[in-house]
Amino acid sequence: MRDNEGVTSAREVVILGSTGSVGTQAIEVVRGRRDQFRVVGLAAGGSNIQLLADQILDVQPRTVALSRSSAAQDLQLALYSRARVRGWNEGKVTLPRLLLGPDAATQLAAEQCDVVLNAITGSAGLLPTLAALKAGRTLALANKESLVIGGRLVTEAARPGQLVAVDSEHSAFAQALRAGRPDEVRKLVLTASGGPFRGRTRKDLEKVGLDDALAHPTWAMGRVITINSATLVNKGLELLEAALLYGVDLAAVEVVVHPQSVVHSMVEFHDGSTIAQCSPPDMKLPIALGLSWPDRVADVSAPVDWTKAHTWTFEPLDSEVFGAVELARRCGRAAGTAPAVFNGANEECVEAFCEGRIGFTDIVDTVAAVVQRHLDRPSSEGGHVKDEELSVQAVLAADEWSRVQARRDIGWSA
Ligand code: NDP
Repeated sequence: MRDNEGVTSAREVVILGSTGSVGTQAIEVVRGRRDQFRVVGLAAGGSNIQLLADQILDVQPRTVALSRSSAAQDLQLALYSRARVRGWNEGKVTLPRLLLGPDAATQLAAEQCDVVLNAITGSAGLLPTLAALKAGRTLALANKESLVIGGRLVTEAARPGQLVAVDSEHSAFAQALRAGRPDEVRKLVLTASGGPFRGRTRKDLEKVGLDDALAHPTWAMGRVITINSATLVNKGLELLEAALLYGVDLAAVEVVVHPQSVVHSMVEFHDGSTIAQCSPPDMKLPIALGLSWPDRVADVSAPVDWTKAHTWTFEPLDSEVFGAVELARRCGRAAGTAPAVFNGANEECVEAFCEGRIGFTDIVDTVAAVVQRHLDRPSSEGGHVKDEELSVQAVLAADEWSRVQARRDIGWSA
C-alpha cells in the first residue's frame, strides 16, 4: 500500500482456505516478502490442523477462523507441539484470536485488512465473498464458484477494481485486457489443457477411475478442481466466471484446448490482434498478482525459457465427449439460479465419484438431468428463479435443492 507521501507499507492480507492448494502457495508467496505483505488472518475448515498450526507460527496472524468448531482444542495443542518441534519455549507462542463455526470465514472476510484471498472450495465461498466486498476489501478471487453462483449479486456488490481474478486464465485476461480499450475487445479466448482425458471417446470415459481422473497432466490442485478439470466442468465454470468478471457476452467467450498450459488465455481485439499471456504453469504468479494488483511481484515464478525449443498447440474442444462446457453455457444464458444448480449438483456428484459411488460419465450426465429439471419447473416447486428476482436466499436454496436432487438421482440418500 502507498500512503499520501508515496511511502509503501506491507499490504495486510487475509487468506481464506489457507491449508489448501491455493492457500499454501499464497503463504509461500507472502512468507519471503514481509516488506510487501503481512498476513493478518487465516481461515480453514479444520481437516489439517498440523499444517494450520505451522502456518500460524510462520505468519503470526491476528485472527484464525475455523469452520469446524470441534477442532479448536486440537489446534491449541498442535500450536504448542509444533512450537516445541521448532525449539521455541511456550512464551514465544502468541495465540491468535479464534473465530469458530460455519460463519467463521465470513466474519473474518469482513475484518480490517487490505485484501482478502478467497481460496475456499465450492459454494461455501459465497458468503465470505459477499462479506469481503460489502466490507470494502479488495477481493482476490480463486473461489470461482462464489462468483458463478452469486452472479450479478456478486458483480453488483463490487465497485470497479475491487474484484481481482486469481484463476490463471482470468488473470491472463486481466493482463491482456490492459492492451486495449473495452470497446476494442472482440473475444476472450479461454484456454483449457483438456485434462487427463483429452482425445478420449465417450466409451473410454465410461471405464476411467478416480486415480486416472486425479492425474492432471499440467497442474497440481485440490481434489474438486482436479476432477472438475477432467470432466471440463471447471472450464464451464470458468466460462461463466469470465463473462461475469469482464462484463462480456457469453457468446464472446470461446474455449480452445491448449495441452501445454503455457498460454493461460488470450484477448482478441477488433483490429485482428490477439494478445496472449504466457508463463510456465505455476499458480504462484496469478496468486501474487491477485494479492498485489495492479502491481507485479518480482521473481515470483520462473519465466518461459526461450533458449529451449517449445511447441505449443491449439485445438478445438470436443463438445460431444465433453458436454460440460455447453451445459454451463446454457446455464449462463438462463442465469438466475441455473448456475447454482449446475455447481451444487456437480459438487455432490464429484464427492460421490470420489467415494466410488458413481462412474466418471455419471457426473455430467446427472448434473445435466438436475439442471433440466430445474429449468422445467416453476420457482415455487424448486425450479428456476430468474436473474431479476435473484437473492442470496434463492441461490442458497437452489444450491441445496440441486444437492438433494443429485443425491436422489444417484441413489445416495445418506
Ligand atoms: P483445496 O481443496 O486444496 O483447499 C480448500 C481450502 O478451503 C482448504 O484450506 C479447506 O480447509 C478450506 N475450506 C473448505 N471449507 C471451508 C470453510 N467452510 N471455511 C473455511 N475454509 C474452508 O482447494 P484448492 O486450493 O485447489 O481450490 C480453492 C479454490 O480455488 C477453488 O474454488 C478452486 O476452483 C480455485 N482454484 C484453484 C486452483 C488450484 O491450482 N488449486 C487454480 C485456480 C482456481 P480444510 O482442508 O481444513 O477443509
